[in-house]
Amino acid sequence: MATQQRYTGLIERYRSRLPVSASTRLISLCEGNTPLIRLENIPRLIGKDVDIYVKFEGLNPTGSFKDRGMTMAVTKAVEEGSQAIICASTGNTSASAAAYAVRAGIKAFVLIPEGKIALGKLAQTLMYGAQIIQINGNFDAGMNIVKQIADHAPVAIVNSINPFRLQGQKTAAFEIIDELGGAPDYHCLPVGNAGNISAYWMGYTEYAQDLPGLPAVTDRRPIMCGYQAAGAAPFVAGKMIDHPETVATAIRIGHPQSWDLAWKAQQESGGWFDSQTDQQILAAQKMLSQYEGVFCEPASAASLAGALQDIGSGKIPEGSRIVCTLTGNGIKDPDIAISQCKDAHPVTIEANLEAVKKAILDSM
Ligand SMILES: *Cc1c(COP(=O)(O)O)cnc(C)c1O
Repeated sequence: MATQQRYTGLIERYRSRLPVSASTRLISLCEGNTPLIRLENIPRLIGKDVDIYVKFEGLNPTGSFKDRGMTMAVTKAVEEGSQAIICASTGNTSASAAAYAVRAGIKAFVLIPEGKIALGKLAQTLMYGAQIIQINGNFDAGMNIVKQIADHAPVAIVNSINPFRLQGQKTAAFEIIDELGGAPDYHCLPVGNAGNISAYWMGYTEYAQDLPGLPAVTDRRPIMCGYQAAGAAPFVAGKMIDHPETVATAIRIGHPQSWDLAWKAQQESGGWFDSQTDQQILAAQKMLSQYEGVFCEPASAASLAGALQDIGSGKIPEGSRIVCTLTGNGIKDPDIAISQCKDAHPVTIEANLEAVKKAILDSM
C-alpha cells in the first residue's frame, strides 16, 4: 500500500538542489512548506484587479524565514565538525540559530543590540538556552565583530554571509513555483541585509531553467521589488548609512551584507528598491491583521506596504500576480502590536450574564 511521505523539512524535499550528500546528518525542525495565502479582502478594499499572495514565513518553526537558511547552515557546520555557532542578530537569526544548535547538540552564541530586540525573539533565544551577548551598539556593529571572531575562536558564523544560508532560503522560491505552477509577475520583500531577496532570485533563476513550455528563462522569473524602512534604506540612498532607525527592528540595518547580490537581483529582474515610512509599514501590518487575519511582524509588512504603494501608482499594473513575503510572525513583537491597538481597550465588566449581554449589544 502506498503511504505518503511525511514532510521532514526543506532539505529533504529539495535534496537534489542543495549541497548535501547521502551521509549528511540533516539538522531539521520541519521548516519550510509555508502557506501561500491569497488575499481576498485587501484587493477589493483598494479597488484593484490584482492577485496578491502572501508567503507566510512566520509559520516556520521559530517563527521566521531564518529557519530555512539555518537548517542548511547548521547542517553544514555540524558536517564540518563545528562545536559552536555564532551570529549577530536583530532577533530572528538568534532565535533560529539557538533552536537549531539545540537540535544539533552544539552551542550557540548570539550578539544582539541592547534594548533593540523584540520581546518574543528575546524570550525564544533565552528559552532555547543560547549564550546571549548584548552589545552596546547596533546590528551593524555586532556583524562587524562576528566577521572577525572566527579568526580568534572556534565558532562557525551562521549569518547570511554564510553561503549555505542563502542555499536554504532559495527553496521558498521553489515552493512558490511548485504551488502556482510558475513564477509570479512581481515578488515583493522587505530588505535588511538583503540576503533573502538575493536567495529568492537565486531560487527563481535556478528553477526557471527547468520549467518547460515557456519561451525564455527571463520570462519565467518575477520582477523583484525590495522595500526598506525609510530610516534604514541604504539601497534607496545608494550607499551605506550609519545610524539606521525604524520601528521594524528586523530591518534596522545600515550596512547590508548582501549588497552586490541584491543589486544583481534588482538589475537582472528589472526590479527596484523603495522605502516606506514606519507609519506606512505599521498601517500595512494592521491592515493584514484586520482584513485578512494574517498577523506578521512589522518588518514583514514592508513588503505589502510597498506593493500597495506601487499598485496604487500603477507601477505594478492591474492584472498582475504578486507574491509578498511575510518574513516573520506578529507574535514576536507584542509591544508594537499592543501599542498599535491603543483604541481597542478591552472593557471590564461584572462577571454575570446581564453585563456580558449588555456589552455585546452595546457594541453591535
Ligand atoms: C531577517 C529579517 C528580514 C530581512 O531579511 P534580509 O535577508 O536581512 O534582507 C526581514 N524581516 C524579518 C522578520 C527578518 O527576520
